[in-house]
Amino acid sequence: MRYLPAFLAPLALALSGCAATPPPAAVAAPAPAAATGAVSAADPRAAEAGEAILAAGGSATDAAIAVMLALTVVEPQSSGIGGGGFMLRADAGNGTLVTIDGRETAPAAATPNRFLGADGKILPRETRVFSGLSVGVPGNLALAAKAHSQYGKLPWAKLFEPAIVLARDGFVMNRRLYESLAGNKGRADRTDAARAIYFGADGEPLPVGSTVKVPALAATFEALAKGGPEAFYGPESAAALAAHVAADTPQDGRMTAQDIAAYTAKERPPVCIRYRVYRVCGMGPPSSGGVAVAQMLGQLEGFDLAAMGPDSPTFWHLFIESQRLAYADRELYVADSDFIEVPVEGLVDAGYMRSRAALISADSTIAKAEAGVPPGAPLARGDGPEEPEHGTTHFSVVDAGGNAVSYTSTIEGAFGSGLFHQGFYLNNELTDFTLTPEAGGKPVANRVEGGKRPRSSMSPTIVYDDTGRIVLVIGAAGGPTIPVTVTRAIIGVLDFGLGAQDALALPFAMAFGDTLLIEEGSALVAMQDDLAALGHKGFRISPAPIKANALGLRADGSWEVATEPRFAGVVTP
Ligand code: GLU
Repeated sequence: MRYLPAFLAPLALALSGCAATPPPAAVAAPAPAAATGAVSAADPRAAEAGEAILAAGGSATDAAIAVMLALTVVEPQSSGIGGGGFMLRADAGNGTLVTIDGRETAPAAATPNRFLGADGKILPRETRVFSGLSVGVPGNLALAAKAHSQYGKLPWAKLFEPAIVLARDGFVMNRRLYESLAGNKGRADRTDAARAIYFGADGEPLPVGSTVKVPALAATFEALAKGGPEAFYGPESAAALAAHVAADTPQDGRMTAQDIAAYTAKERPPVCIRYRVYRVCGMGPPSSGGVAVAQMLGQLEGFDLAAMGPDSPTFWHLFIESQRLAYADRELYVADSDFIEVPVEGLVDAGYMRSRAALISADSTIAKAEAGVPPGAPLARGDGPEEPEHGTTHFSVVDAGGNAVSYTSTIEGAFGSGLFHQGFYLNNELTDFTLTPEAGGKPVANRVEGGKRPRSSMSPTIVYDDTGRIVLVIGAAGGPTIPVTVTRAIIGVLDFGLGAQDALALPFAMAFGDTLLIEEGSALVAMQDDLAALGHKGFRISPAPIKANALGLRADGSWEVATEPRFAGVVTP
């Protein structure tokens, strides 16, 4: 596939099922949380920001917002207020689950040919990614404001305090940010303003251990703390942002202040399935994540995975086959449901998933994994691959009352478009649209359209046990790898009986078209012959481009904070 090489570069940067129903059938007493709750985030300073808000009496939503803001400072390569996200909020008391879509939107003037040149060919990467063409109207602050108005306990301004301190007084450059800056020259340092903050006079990133201050971001946060989301989406600020993006956009379809003022975060129906005795809930369109996770699990439910265990080549074979089927459906059917009909209920219908599972054999591979025809499927349409990047982060929060938030936030690629505005990077999310509007003579579901949200793979997920108790709050970064990363860990916890941290440490394998990525240095490398004997081919041994965060409920009722083991040692300053 066209996008594989970027993936395989040494990374270092990087649920019978019905959709749209309120989740757990049974509602249990809230799980006893630690005194104030728990936070898992990709950077300890962001986790501390969330913990401080919980300690001050904040809700899981309050703390998650504080984490999102703090990550804008300390993990600028992966997310921030210049990007978007998806948030799940589960109520421990009444069992409801709300999902909020803060995905970036294309400007109203965007057309399906946005990423094509006059010759009809896809624009070079520099033009389509490192320019205003790729920037969608950011959604994270609208998401935060909507969530806070519904579930916040502390004042809005309070949530900004930890992030203001980090941006104003500075934070210590860790190895991960350093390497990300060094590996993304031409993008991270595209503007004078960003260069002045993260790079030295020699053009190299500031050394590991140095203090990084982002005064412009501190000032932006102060204005937002005082003025609320108006300070971002209101006329003055919208005009400044639109002008900045438009000046960096080389052709028609420019962002306007009206695009920004019109932005709304939207509540969407959750995608929930029953998997064995559990209930697994995720994000629906425009993310493909919830459907993909549900399908991968649903297609595997008939197999005794627990008896196989993670050391069994048969388990990995079955998992890879289930991925292939789920991703074929994803490519064809999932996009922004405000623009195209997405047969979500059909895709996660228990009968449909069983029919797909019947295609999976324990002894051989499916010759060509094709999309199925789920109930309610619209007329077939073509689709094409997208470009995965590494600019995403996930955080999970549980508060003292046992309410949970699962939030994945992104600017798409590392440092997004490279455009730096008032102290933060602007996303390049619009390159998550399918770049060519037609395939096989048919319009693709995920083509660019004005006001549309590009398809995502982000998979913030919440798992409930048979009593309705929240047992796992999980999500990941890594573009199209996200649903696989999340599903693998869910199987680790639910089928293999692992703790959350051990589940994140499971090896990673994923099928990309004709290529099978096997994680370098993992136990899977030694299983290659077994997998080949089952018909797998196209092996590529490579570091796994993944980063997950989770909270898992222990038997004693406390929360296990799980962070990505692949980044141990490079995150702590
Ligand atoms: N923008 C991608 C998505 O929404 C995620 C990119 C990444 O994880 O780095 O699916």
